[in-house]
Amino acid sequence: VHAEFLTSLTGIAGTENVLHAPEDCWNYGYDNSRQHALPEAVVFPEDPQQIQAIVRLCNESNLPLVTRGRGTGTAGACVPLHAGLVLSTERMNNIIRADPGDRLMEVEPGVTNQEVQQRAAADNLFWAPDPTSASVCSVGGNLACNAAGPRAVKYGTSRENVLGLEAVTGTGDIIHTGVYTTKGVVGYDLTRLIIGSEGTLAVITRAILKLLPQPESKHTVQAFYSDIQSAAKAVVAIMRQPVTPCALEFIDGNAIELVRDHSDLVIPANTGAMLMIEVDGRADTINLESGRILEAARNEGLLEYRIATNDAENREIWAVRKALSPALRDIAPKKINEDVVVPVSRIPELIEGLDALGREYGIRIVNFGHAGNGNIHVNLLIDPDDPAQMQNSHECLMQVFRLVIRLNGTLSGEHGIGFVKRDYTSLEIDPQTMQLMRNIKSQFDPNNILNPGKLFPADTDS
Ligand SMILES: Cc1cc2nc3c(=O)[nH]c(=O)nc-3n(C[C@H](O)[C@H](O)[C@H](O)COP(=O)(O)OP(=O)(O)OC[C@H]3O[C@@H](n4cnc5c(N)ncnc54)[C@H](O)[C@@H]3O)c2cc1C
Repeated sequence: VHAEFLTSLTGIAGTENVLHAPEDCWNYGYDNSRQHALPEAVVFPEDPQQIQAIVRLCNESNLPLVTRGRGTGTAGACVPLHAGLVLSTERMNNIIRADPGDRLMEVEPGVTNQEVQQRAAADNLFWAPDPTSASVCSVGGNLACNAAGPRAVKYGTSRENVLGLEAVTGTGDIIHTGVYTTKGVVGYDLTRLIIGSEGTLAVITRAILKLLPQPESKHTVQAFYSDIQSAAKAVVAIMRQPVTPCALEFIDGNAIELVRDHSDLVIPANTGAMLMIEVDGRADTINLESGRILEAARNEGLLEYRIATNDAENREIWAVRKALSPALRDIAPKKINEDVVVPVSRIPELIEGLDALGREYGIRIVNFGHAGNGNIHVNLLIDPDDPAQMQNSHECLMQVFRLVIRLNGTLSGEHGIGFVKRDYTSLEIDPQTMQLMRNIKSQFDPNNILNPGKLFPADTDS
């Protein structure tokens, strides 16, 4: 960047809030996609007015601006592909206020998910989005990626749990979207538009989070099935009855073998699939509710189940799920990990189709994930040193995505598009709809300053 730009930037944010030496900036060029690009400078603004001035400066200098939370995203969304300026929100990390009566909390974007949960818990409340990365990811990043975790099956994703936003658009305007209430219908729903837009429309500077009361009690059921189809049938049966579980996770037979090999957990022989089902609710009705779930989970393929009714037993049950990611990392450090979604009733077809693709391309595919939402993590275990397999994996991945779209699914449930998946989005979004999205982007950000090269396929770049 020019010296003149740096002088203006330090004038806005203060020298203590600007980095420009490459060795200092290096750390702000990566995320969990393992991609890296070196930014020309990094700025740590402290309020929306500074962000407004920074965005205007980038417009004047025609310099890309990439907002960064904590860099835990998995799709390269905060990697500064075209260099330019990284705007880190890590010094805007205050909880502005919590209001338990109105069940809301106003926060700055750099606060972590975990800090929000801890503050909410003091009032017996919680914020529904529960990504596994909660202790290290920012709320701004959660909203920009529409993050969620197992609880989404009952409580929804970030989109369903935010009332309103303050944000700075690509033109440097400070806008206010949404409401402080749980109802409201004045104007377009820009809150939901900005949530999930991966930093391409605006920099979120404040969020009004919707909080929910903590459940009194929790039961966890671990159910082992002889085959994947029986487990998938149980998922559909569970989602058809009135008690909505607060987690409904699924692990396929390949994944179970991995856990078995990499841990001393006791898993019945001949297990072809497993479900983890969590039910929460009032202490005086929880037995009835978990009973209803068990009834639905039971079918001819159910081999065995365990039920946890206290914290210690609960932790033991979740240990199987938690052993999975390290096991996968051990055996396939370069695995391709997708997070596709299909309607719950189509999960059996998805799994059958994935098995067939695995056989056709000679690639081991391991599946697990948030079955209650139909959000399945599909892992292609590939050997990066085998060029033939690498080539095959790209073709196989394209076929996986085509299968998902055929089943009325979507390419990503929570990881987003960033730039690693941008060239696949045309499989899902038709040209007219894509053009409308482009037009919306240019209303928010006419000079394409905010996070260029993300979300939209490369062949639609102007
Ligand atoms: C171990 C691990 C487990 C994970 N588990 C889950 C999971 O269970 N569920 C899930 O959904 N995700 C999960 N993730 C992915 C990731 O943690 C989430 O997407 C998270 O929301 C990203 O937050 P971040 O602060 O790190 O954002 P970053 O990675 O820094 O940024 C992500 C995107 O958000 C944009 N952005 C960040 N802040 C703002 C802002 N204030 N305004 C506008 N745009 C902004 C960036 O420009 C970028 O496009 C996991 C990641 C890891 C490493």
